[in-house]
Amino acid sequence: MTAWRAGFARQCIDVLRSPGVHHPAPDDMAFVNTHGNWPTFETACAAALRSGSVGPLQRPTTAAFWRFCLQLIEQTELNDRLVPATVVGAVAVRGRCGTSSWKVELDDGSTIGARQVVWAGNTRRRRVPAGVQLGGAVQHSGDVDLGAVGVGERIAVIGGGQSAGQLALRAAQRGAAVTVVSRGPRRVADLDVDAGWLMEDHLAPFRATMDPAERRRVVERVQCGSMTSDLDLELRRSRVARVVGAGEVTARPDPDRGPVVGFAGVECEVDRVWAATGSVPDLRVAPALAELAASGAPHIDGWPVLDDTLQWLDGFYVVGALAALTLGPAAGNLGGARAAADILANRGPEPCRTGISTY
Ligand SMILES: Cc1cc2nc3c(=O)[nH]c(=O)nc-3n(C[C@H](O)[C@H](O)[C@H](O)COP(=O)(O)OP(=O)(O)OC[C@H]3O[C@@H](n4cnc5c(N)ncnc54)[C@H](O)[C@@H]3O)c2cc1C
Repeated sequence: MTAWRAGFARQCIDVLRSPGVHHPAPDDMAFVNTHGNWPTFETACAAALRSGSVGPLQRPTTAAFWRFCLQLIEQTELNDRLVPATVVGAVAVRGRCGTSSWKVELDDGSTIGARQVVWAGNTRRRRVPAGVQLGGAVQHSGDVDLGAVGVGERIAVIGGGQSAGQLALRAAQRGAAVTVVSRGPRRVADLDVDAGWLMEDHLAPFRATMDPAERRRVVERVQCGSMTSDLDLELRRSRVARVVGAGEVTARPDPDRGPVVGFAGVECEVDRVWAATGSVPDLRVAPALAELAASGAPHIDGWPVLDDTLQWLDGFYVVGALAALTLGPAAGNLGGARAAADILANRGPEPCRTGISTY
C-alpha cells in the first residue's frame, strides 16, 4: 500500500479504474456495502459522482479505497506481521525425510525459514520504446513530478493508456499545452482488461493452450493499453491534443534544441516528453528470482511458468502480474489478485506445513 499510495499521489489519481467489487477483502461486496456507512466517503465521492467518474462500476475513490484497506489491515493485524526489508535471496532447503522448506534472505543479513513462500513483489522493468532515449526532460512516467509543470509548457506524452491520459489531464489543468501521441489507434474501454478474463469462458481456453510462449503472446495482445471514457472526455474538455496511429515515436534530449519528439517523419521541439509506456513484469529484475531461474526454474523471457496452483518450485508460489501465464491478462490488477488468493486459499495447505519460523 505504501508503493500504491505513492504512485497514485504522484499521478494525482482520485478514482481507481477497477470496479468496487475488486479489493483485498474476502467478501466481494465488502467495499460496495460498507462505503455508504461512511459520511466522509460520501463527501469524497460527491464530486466524482457528479462528473460520472464513479459510475455504475462503483469505482472507489482513492481516499475511500485507502481507508477501506487501512481498516482491513487493522482488523487482520497484518501490520504486526510486517518485516520492513527487501528479500534478496531464496534458497530451497531439503529436510532429511524428503520435506522441503525455504530460507528467505533479507537485505539486513537476517533470514526467515518458511515451509511455503508466496512471491508478491510485482517485479517489473520499465518499458521504453526503442526510439526513446531518456534523460533530462525526457522522462519515464514513473519519474514525473507534476508539481514541476509550469503554465504554458509544451509537453508531449507518449502512450495511449490510462497513465498517459491521467498525466496529460493533470498537466493541462496546470496550464501546460499537452499533446498525447499514441502509436496505435485511440482505444477507449472502461476496464483495462475485459471482465471475461476473470471468468472461465476466456480462461478455460487460455489454460488449455499448452505452449506457455503462446499464452504470453495472448496476454500481451490483450494488454494493449486503453483509457476510460470519462478520462477520454476530460481530455477533450481540457483541450489536450491527440495524435493517434502515429506509429513508432522517437524522443531524445537534444543538447541544443532541448527535448525533441518525433513521429511520422516530423520532429518537434517541446519542453518535456513523458514516456507513459508502462512496465513489463520480469522476474530477472529481482536477484532472488533471477538466481532461481538461473538454476533451472522455468520461465518464458522473464515470466515464470507456474502450475495450476501458482507453484513455481516446490513450496514457492508466485502471484500478481508475474503469474500471468496461469492467471491470464488480469493477473496484475486487483481482480487478478483476488483470483490468486482464491487459488492459494482453496489449495488447503496442511496445517503443520504453514508455520513461519525465524532462523
Ligand atoms: C498508476 C497505476 C494505477 C493503477 N490502478 C489500478 C486500479 O485502479 N485497479 C487495479 O486493479 N489495479 C490498478 N493498478 C495495477 C496495480 O499496480 C495493482 O492492482 C496492484 O498494485 C498490484 O498489487 P501487487 O501487490 O501485485 O503489487 P504492488 O502493489 O506493486 O506491491 C508489490 C510490493 O512488493 C514489494 N517488493 C517488491 N520486491 C520486493 C522484495 N524483493 N522484497 C520485499 N518486498 C518487495 C514492493 O515494495 C511493494 O510493496 C494500477 C497501477 C498503476 C501503476
